[in-house]
Amino acid sequence: MRAVYYEKFTALPTIETVSDPTPSPTGVVVKVEATGLCRSDWHGWMGHDPDIKLPHVPGHELAGTIHAVGRDVKTLKLGDRVTVPFVSGCGHCPQCAAGQQQICDNQVQPGFTCWGSFAEYVALEFADLNVVKLPDAMSFDTAAALGCRFVTSFSAVIDKGRCQPGEWVAVHGCGGVGLSAIMIASAIGAQVIAVDLTDEKLALAKALGATATVNASGGVKVANAIRDLTGGGAHLSIDALGHSVTAMNSVRSLRKRGRHVQVGLMLAEHARAPLPMDRIIAFELEIKGSHGMQAHRYPEMLRMIAQGILQPEKLVAKTIPLDAAPAALAAMDRFEGTGITIIRP
Ligand SMILES: [Zn+2]
Ligand SMILES: [Zn+2]
Repeated sequence: MRAVYYEKFTALPTIETVSDPTPSPTGVVVKVEATGLCRSDWHGWMGHDPDIKLPHVPGHELAGTIHAVGRDVKTLKLGDRVTVPFVSGCGHCPQCAAGQQQICDNQVQPGFTCWGSFAEYVALEFADLNVVKLPDAMSFDTAAALGCRFVTSFSAVIDKGRCQPGEWVAVHGCGGVGLSAIMIASAIGAQVIAVDLTDEKLALAKALGATATVNASGGVKVANAIRDLTGGGAHLSIDALGHSVTAMNSVRSLRKRGRHVQVGLMLAEHARAPLPMDRIIAFELEIKGSHGMQAHRYPEMLRMIAQGILQPEKLVAKTIPLDAAPAALAAMDRFEGTGITIIRP
């Protein structure tokens, strides 16, 4: 099969012909129809993720059809249209037993712990537990756009953030994660304030439901601006970027007993970001991480999409062929663009 392949971190990947994957007894192989290009792939390629062993094939936001089925798989058959959370749970650890497969103790992450979906085929493990069948009406591009970003935002807003109608929600960073969070929070009736550095992304945030925007460029005091807009601070604030500054701004923009959810990955020099612990105590703030969403939470999200309450297809900015993926991956830090780029292998 053809795949985006690299043997060295930070060196431009190439398109190579590599061996087709075969399914493990409890796994499947999916023919990839669409796969999202994500900042996590860029972090991996930069060498920020210790799980990645070289050589490597990236890609973790995939949709496609079942191409081969392991002998012990019971619920999936050839041709099924599917996607998968970026973390596949093992099914037998304490986290999986508690229904929290997204933080499984033995997690498999295609594109990180093993080869991923920037390829014609990808192997998935523990398929019965993790692979999600797609509604017939959902395109592969839209399903790939659920990726890690939309589903992680769904879990962050609904499950971890416990977002309620009428609440003020601040979303720091309007990339794929942030725009997803804005759409989801506003869809359930929250008032969302979008924060970013560019007016172009803020305009898209408004189109997706944001009530107000804050352009954080030029030394604007973001937390003060949000406290002014909300009459005292947001009930829920999400750092959708993953940066020391946005994490601090997010926590400082909360009202008393507010909830901060960290969704943007904190890697490299941001891994030990400082937080205002004095305020966290005085305001009784909650700080939570969000590491994706388990497969058994997908049906509620898919129902909201089927009803038109959520429209992830609006986040797809463009589609590119596999041959364009290496350059697009390498350029992510410079030109993230607005919305989600989908690769069609
Ligand atoms: Zn597990
Ligand atoms: Zn991702």
